[in-house]
This record gives sequence, C-alpha cells and structure tokens, in this order.
Amino acid sequence: MRFNTKSVHSGRKPDPVTGAISTPIYQTSTFLFEDFDKPRECDYSRTNNPNRLALGRAIADLEGGHQGFIFASGMAAVTTAIHLLKAGDHVISCDDLYGGSHRLFSEIITKFGIEFTFLRLDEEQKLRDAIKPNTKMIWIETPSNPLLNITDLEMVSRVASEHEILTVCDNTFSTPYFLRPIEYGIDLVLHSTTKYLNGHCDVIGGAIVTTTEKLSEEIQFLLNGMGTNASPFDSWLVLRGIKTLPVRMDRHAESSMKIARYLDEHPRVKEVFYPGLTSHPGHEIAKKQMDGYGGVVSFRIEGEVPEFLRKLEIFYLAESLGGADSLVEHAATMSHASMNEEARIKAGITDDLIRLSIGLEDVEDLIGDLEKALGRSKTG
Ligand SMILES: *Cc1c(COP(=O)(O)O)cnc(C)c1O
Repeated sequence: MRFNTKSVHSGRKPDPVTGAISTPIYQTSTFLFEDFDKPRECDYSRTNNPNRLALGRAIADLEGGHQGFIFASGMAAVTTAIHLLKAGDHVISCDDLYGGSHRLFSEIITKFGIEFTFLRLDEEQKLRDAIKPNTKMIWIETPSNPLLNITDLEMVSRVASEHEILTVCDNTFSTPYFLRPIEYGIDLVLHSTTKYLNGHCDVIGGAIVTTTEKLSEEIQFLLNGMGTNASPFDSWLVLRGIKTLPVRMDRHAESSMKIARYLDEHPRVKEVFYPGLTSHPGHEIAKKQMDGYGGVVSFRIEGEVPEFLRKLEIFYLAESLGGADSLVEHAATMSHASMNEEARIKAGITDDLIRLSIGLEDVEDLIGDLEKALGRSKTG
C-alpha cells in the first residue's frame, strides 16, 4: 500500500461484530477473560486497549517501524522514552528542542542522575566530540522547534551506531508524510499526536514507534509500568485525524512556502526560518531527506511585537501547532518560557522571534492578515 492508502486503512478493519467501518470506541477499563489463565488480547486498558492498538498499528505502518505505542501526551511519550536510561547515563540532545522536553530533561530527569549535553547537531565533528563513554542516547528534532534547524539523520545514526548509542527522533513537525526517520537508521520515532497526526486542535496525545522486538518489549513494559497510556477516545480521535493527514500536510506545506516567501520580502521582517527557502542553512539536507517542508514558519520582526500580535485576526494567539486553525505565538514568552533565559538566548530564541503554524485557511486570507498586522513601515 502507498502512503495515502495506508493513512486511510492501516491499523483498522471493519468491526467483526457489527461491520462498522469506523473502529468502535472501547470505553472500558477491563475485559472478560476467556477462561481461567486465558486473558484475551486486551485484559486491562492501562496495559492495552483496542483503540490504542489500532492507532499504534497505523502510526507504526506509516513510519515503517516495528510497533507503535500510544501515550496520554507527547510529554508522556518523551518521559517514557527517557526511562529507557538509568542513572549515570549521558544524553546528547539538540539545543533548540521543544520547550517542554528541554524542561523535562534539564530540570526533572537530571534529578535522577542522567546528564544532558545540549548541542546544535549540524556538524559531524561537533557530535563526535560530545560523545562520552557513558553516552547512551541522542535526541533529535528535525526541523527543530521553533527555529526549524535541520539535522542530517543519516549522519547522526551512522555516528551513533559506531558507539552503540540509541537514536530518538521527535518527528512531530514533519510527520511520516514528509519524513520517515527509520529509513535513515533512527531507532525510535516519537510524536506529539496533539499536532499534525490528530490535526484538529482537540486532543492531547503522544506516540512512540520502535524498530526492534526488544525496544517494543521495553516500551510496552514502561508504558504499562508508568501508566503513561492514552484514553480510548483520544486514540480514536487521532486515528480519525490520520485519515486526512496527507491532504492536510500538502495544504500546510503549500501555504507555508507562499507565506515564507511573502515574509522574506517584507521590509519589517529581519529573518525568515523555513527549510523550504533555498536561503535556509538546512535546505539541502531537508531536500534530501524530506518529501515536504512542513507547516511551521518562524521569523524575526522589527519593531513592536505585542502590537503586531494584537492586530492579527485570523491567526489566533495560542501555543501549539498542526491544526486546521492558523496560530501565532511568541516563543520566548509562550512555548519556550519554560527554558531558562541563558539556554533560550543561546539557542537563538530571542524576543523578536515569532512562530506561525500555518493552518488550512485560504493562503490569500492569511497573507492579508499578516500584511494588515505588519504594516509597511519599520515600526508597523
Ligand atoms: C508539542 C510537542 C511536544 C509535547 O507534546 P504534548 O502533546 O504537548 O505533550 C513534544 N515535542 C514536540 C516537537 C512538540 O511540538
């Protein structure tokens, strides 16, 4: 099956009892045993539930992985993945990663004796130099959040495999429609399904796709042991969202390219970050490893930020991304406020940085909204 067909059919089959095409919602905590010592495929919904299983199969199929596991949030997935490690281990992570992941790593997980090095993963030698004898994991986001930096996945997984280091790629921004990290040798793929996979701003959820039987057993053990699982209804909603993933991603990317070009020429815009622009430092690698450049555009603005944000009408001032509704946010005080100031500035998340999540509205309306809010003079 090709990607569009998989998006509609993977993980699902009509309900054997009623013939319902849509997977029924199994809103139950527990399941009847067939007999003494004979549980069915699902016996307790923390451990397994048919809606989670269906969604896990669908996402694993789209990513080309071994098995998919479904979590209560993207952060629940991140938390679960990091528990593959133990005290004394060292992690190399990209430096401008999702603000919540940065907070979890630097302020919570370090309490348990795991060390982190935050690094821009743009040069092979820099990565090699950062590897220590106890380095056990490399954590990647590409494109990263909010600066859309691109990491060469083939390079990272080649270096990692020489040292038997586990590689994790948070693929939330690209989705498997545009990037399948496993094809480049990545071991674990992670998602906040809250974003594009669900796509409608109405679920918080997460997923992990594994590549081996061993990793699948470990992730299932952690999910069940830590209780980081998603609910049946949220799993059902995300499975529903995935049916339209390819058509949504095509529109997000097409409009984002137009908006990036528009911003690039605007006198009040100092710098535009979108991997589809040939001026973007990661453009060549993005072109090589991705099938599209995604739906997030960031830029630096000259003049008053609050006034610009207040003048927008179609773009809602809100955190998050990946939905039908276009959103705008100020990374320094919103999505990345959880990062300490030093790390934030070092990662390039300055006060003049705006991040747009380009939704599914008509692109002419979105550009009109930006034009009205930006004005044409340097001060707006
Ligand atoms: C949103 C996001 C997360 C966290 O996901 P939640 O569903 O909000 O817990 C992790 N990584 C990336 C890249 C994200 O955008």
